Amino acid sequence: MEYLSDRIKSLSVSQTLAMAQKSRELKAKGLDVISLSLGEPDFNTPDYVKTAAKKAIDDNYSKYPPVPGYDDLRAAISKKFREENGLEYTPEQIVVSAGGKHSLINVILSIVNPGDEVIILAPYWVSYYDQIILAGGKPVIIRATLENDFKVRPEQIEAAITDKTRLLIFNSPSNPTGMVYTGDEIGKIADVIGRHEGLFVISDEIYEHIIFEGLHVSMASFKSIYDRVITVNGVSKGYAMTGWRIGYIGAPVWISRACNKLQGQFTSGVCSIAQRAALAAIQGNDGSRQVMKEAFQRRRDLVCNLLSDIEGMKIRVPQGAFYVMPDISSFLGKSDGNGTIANSDDLALYLLDKAQVAVVGGGAFGAPECIRISYATSDELLVEAVKRIKSALSRLN
Ligand code: PMP
Ligand code: GLU
Repeated sequence: MEYLSDRIKSLSVSQTLAMAQKSRELKAKGLDVISLSLGEPDFNTPDYVKTAAKKAIDDNYSKYPPVPGYDDLRAAISKKFREENGLEYTPEQIVVSAGGKHSLINVILSIVNPGDEVIILAPYWVSYYDQIILAGGKPVIIRATLENDFKVRPEQIEAAITDKTRLLIFNSPSNPTGMVYTGDEIGKIADVIGRHEGLFVISDEIYEHIIFEGLHVSMASFKSIYDRVITVNGVSKGYAMTGWRIGYIGAPVWISRACNKLQGQFTSGVCSIAQRAALAAIQGNDGSRQVMKEAFQRRRDLVCNLLSDIEGMKIRVPQGAFYVMPDISSFLGKSDGNGTIANSDDLALYLLDKAQVAVVGGGAFGAPECIRISYATSDELLVEAVKRIKSALSRLN
């Protein structure tokens, strides 16, 4: 007999991770699957970071680390925030966690009460929705479509705010669309937030280093709302360190203290070796960040050119991250003779089955008319994948 809590029953499986697992299983069975499902750099962690981690093992970093992170790591993050983002966060305002995902749930559990409304901007990253549910909050979804460049307007946010709105989750560059809000656009959203006391913003800036056009602007740099912004970041994407699991926040001190308390009961301080590696990553720079960014930009150009050639597929060229989110609505309702494609999840399964290319259906991102393609893979595989997608889609009538 199973006795699962209502809490876990209300939670969905992460579709990004589920699709990645499905493609791993098919590959293990010997199928030639190209995975464009999981969003992670295909590069290895830079050597200078790996060297620091090996040294940390030899230097016996084997004891429990402080719950919010080593002092020198928090000092380095504080310096990074000042120099790269123009943000003043003292080390006490910083908490290091097991990835950006962990940082996000710490904050959400710290400030969202059951029944509180949390605004998310669709297309949104999958885990926002379920993390809000886990906290007993109510996700309030505002939608932007390809026609609006996948960006919501400040008036939409204003109209969604009620007495119960506690939090807005903002993400630029965006997963899943790759869109980057300009400083001016962020400023206008900050103005809306500023008008509503008691409303907080999580600004998820994990892709800040992967921007091809324009500059990254931090939400907390708008002084009037600095006290109400929690900046989330981490080393996963910018330094190709997804497996090391290090993320962090800069936040008002009452929030960093709350996250520290929560983490002290949940996980304690996160992996000591990974923290030493993250310190090296943040303090050093061997040029690999730039090399990776240039590779992502080249692949973006490649994949967008190829996708634009597919009849019926609409795209907006992303300015950052490593995702593109085609609108595939023209294929819905069509069939290859063996069942109809009713929604984008069906289309993702069809592409996995018939083209052996794994992408993620847009439903989990609040964009049921789209699919998400992660182009963080080699040029050769991207060319082959889009060729297969094009051929499979041409068989739908
Ligand atoms: N936010 C966004 C928008 C992401 O795409 C990811 C990637 N998983 C995360 C947060 C979490 O990153 P991490 O791997 O550091 O947990
Ligand atoms: N952020 C990545 C993605 O969206 C990793 C998977 C995950 O953590 O959900 O694919």
